[in-house]
Amino acid sequence: MNSYSKSLKLYERARNSLAGGVSSNYRMSKQPHPLFFTRGEGARIYDVDGNEYLDFALGQGPLILGHSHPKVLQRVAEEINHGQLYAGQHELEIGLAEKVQQHIPCAELVRFTNSGSESVQATLRLARAFTGRTKYIKFEGHYHGWFDNVLISLQPSKDTAGPRSSPRAVLETSGQARSVQEDVVVLPWNDLEIVEKALRQYSDVIAAIITEPVMCNNGCIEPKEGFLRGLRDLCDRYGVVLIFDETITGFRLGLGGAQVSSGVTPDLAIFGKAMASGFAISLFAGKKDLMNLIATGEVTHAGTYNSNNACVAAAIATLEVLESGGDELRERIFALGRRLRDGLGEIASRERQTVLLSGPGPMFHMAFTSLREIKEYRDCLDCDTPKYSSFVKNMLDRGVRLIGRGMWYISAAHTTTDIEQTLTAASDALRSMNS
Ligand code: PMP
Repeated sequence: MNSYSKSLKLYERARNSLAGGVSSNYRMSKQPHPLFFTRGEGARIYDVDGNEYLDFALGQGPLILGHSHPKVLQRVAEEINHGQLYAGQHELEIGLAEKVQQHIPCAELVRFTNSGSESVQATLRLARAFTGRTKYIKFEGHYHGWFDNVLISLQPSKDTAGPRSSPRAVLETSGQARSVQEDVVVLPWNDLEIVEKALRQYSDVIAAIITEPVMCNNGCIEPKEGFLRGLRDLCDRYGVVLIFDETITGFRLGLGGAQVSSGVTPDLAIFGKAMASGFAISLFAGKKDLMNLIATGEVTHAGTYNSNNACVAAAIATLEVLESGGDELRERIFALGRRLRDGLGEIASRERQTVLLSGPGPMFHMAFTSLREIKEYRDCLDCDTPKYSSFVKNMLDRGVRLIGRGMWYISAAHTTTDIEQTLTAASDALRSMNS
């Protein structure tokens, strides 16, 4: 059994200087407590107690090539030899923008930011400027960053969520401006009829619909056949800007993200996470008529650290590795994920545990629930989260690091042996939970 005593000591020390001992509220793990890591290599991560884990958290998604990919680290080292930030342009960022244009269908023009949260804000501002309207539609359970105007109805309880067909806009944190509720219409995902009804009702005030093209922040729910296409058609009919938040799907489902795999092109999109192997860069991109509002200066977008050398270099190197791996690499990541996802299902049924596994493979979700399908956020409320937390701790003790909310990420660094080792650990963990 692993010991976590050195992590615990550091955590106790950290709480005196870092609020809550962490740098993001989403790292406040209680199972057993936040861990302190010393290094990552390939599919593995190591903590201060000397424990080695197969890592399926992968930095919450960015590490599509695994930890410390040599080509990424080398490229970053080369670039930062020249400096780190110019507050001016450099040639490398044109190269990165050109790659983005080449791969992402909606990317007629591109801007770089430092996080998905920031990129989301820019797209909503653009949509408002373009349409002259003020409100936007977001879907229950979707996450678009931690800022006031979007941290809404991420995980509302049954009591607060309101009626399914017209959910309440539920604030997620103390201190959030109440006024943001006026600018958002919250709807259940995967139900075109309800979207159409809302658009008929509010069409003259709705600037945008923002959606994760695969719902990755509660469960891992794929869009129903025709749902994304239907959103596209409705947006065209009602003059609404369609925004895909591909922070997770981007570069993970393939170089063009979900807009290539679904064949549906949004007006604007946000990419982040897997684009730069853990370096802090994101982008938003879109059709020229929208992005030109930024080009002309009519809409402001800025940021001190935008397109800094290290992050641009990391993104270029990551995309080059993905490009050179081509379809073969993409298919390998899908195949590994599917093998793990399906293997976990088989093991769970052997251990008489009712679990649901869902999602395409490069990322997927596991939950203890008797539901046979999760179609929208409210289904997630029927999942046994304490039991999943216990599974996560049991896996940690067996050298496998998971994300507490049920999501699993796969990287190009995982091997079939790693997958089999993980399945063995899962089998032991589930058996121990039975006894
Ligand atoms: N959108 C989506 C879909 C996300 O999953 C996330 C982060 N998990 C964000 C936006 C926010 O990105 P960041 O944490 O880089 O601000």
